Amino acid sequence: MSLKLLFVSTPVGPLGSGAGGGVELTLYNMATEMGRRGHTLETIAPQGSGLDGLQIIPIPGELQVSAQNGGRDAPISFPADSVLGNMWNRARQVQENFDVIVNFAYDWLPFYLTPFFDRPVAHIVSMASLSEAMDDIIIKTHRTAPHLLAFHSATQAQSFNLSAPLQILGNGLDLSLYEFSPAADGTLAWVGRIAPEKALEDGIIAAKKVGLPLKVFGQIANLEYWQSLQERYGPIDYRGFLPTLELQRQLKECSALLMTPRWLEAFGNVCIEALACGVPVIAYGRGGPAEIIEDGKTGFLVQPDSIDGLVAALSRLGEIDRSMCRRSVQSHYSLSALGDRLERWLYEINDLKFERS
Ligand code: UDP
Repeated sequence: MSLKLLFVSTPVGPLGSGAGGGVELTLYNMATEMGRRGHTLETIAPQGSGLDGLQIIPIPGELQVSAQNGGRDAPISFPADSVLGNMWNRARQVQENFDVIVNFAYDWLPFYLTPFFDRPVAHIVSMASLSEAMDDIIIKTHRTAPHLLAFHSATQAQSFNLSAPLQILGNGLDLSLYEFSPAADGTLAWVGRIAPEKALEDGIIAAKKVGLPLKVFGQIANLEYWQSLQERYGPIDYRGFLPTLELQRQLKECSALLMTPRWLEAFGNVCIEALACGVPVIAYGRGGPAEIIEDGKTGFLVQPDSIDGLVAALSRLGEIDRSMCRRSVQSHYSLSALGDRLERWLYEINDLKFERS
């Protein structure tokens, strides 16, 4: 049976801008795979969104400030003419045309609105615990409708102190877009939104210590932070925010990807993107990367926040067989593996809808 799905995107930026971080690729990959499986799908997203092949309902309004910018006690706030409010108003108006609505926003409003909708609202929670207000609404949703929540990793789900049942979707990508490179050019890569929680400085310092060039890719999410990095560490080899095909073309040549997040990374799409190209990943051993990387086999997990740990791991890169990296993505994080997990969850939600009504 094919499902009619309504995806509702993140309100922090248009799809394609990079402001939404990993959510953009996640939504795109899930939409493509669900379409390939014969489900019909529309996506509500901020005006200006554009991703190849996605049928988008563009919504005007003021963008939401990213949740990771407030503290733990940050209150919930919305700008006037909020695009988040406008998107969910549209979802409400068109809901009867769909079987399941899927929320990709890490924002309070869609969770709060869930019981007020006639159609089930499934939530793909994209970040770990960040604030009391978000924890509260996620915990309340879990209490009344645990089947409506899905997470990317077990550690991310545990950060909300939820008990089973927990739906862990992982993530996945289209391996045909990522070319395997058996050879490396002796450079290091760092990929991600350039923002304090991603701690690019640790990557810069580690690369300097071992004397290897570091290539940096990603959207500059925090200009002040970016400028301060250049003041502190000198010029950075910044390659820009690249579309997937170009990103993988440059990434695949690298000897390793450094992942140095200060926060608990919910998953870390860039981890599986690098592995798909055969690039080992050296990451702090917490959050998503700790569940993805096989220590000593597809990369190294080091003591969180330890630059010495990164340096020590870099000296062991010769131990990694790059084809193992690619194979680990083929077995766990292909688009069809993700599609199986996602489809099973959405069917379950759709079936429960009939049992409950
Ligand atoms: N990315 C990209 N081009 C770049 C650098 C990064 O498209 O030049 C994308 C990358 O494919 C990934 C996202 O940025 O999907 C970063 O997501 P991740 O899950 O690693 O972290 P988040 O930003 O969600 O915290």
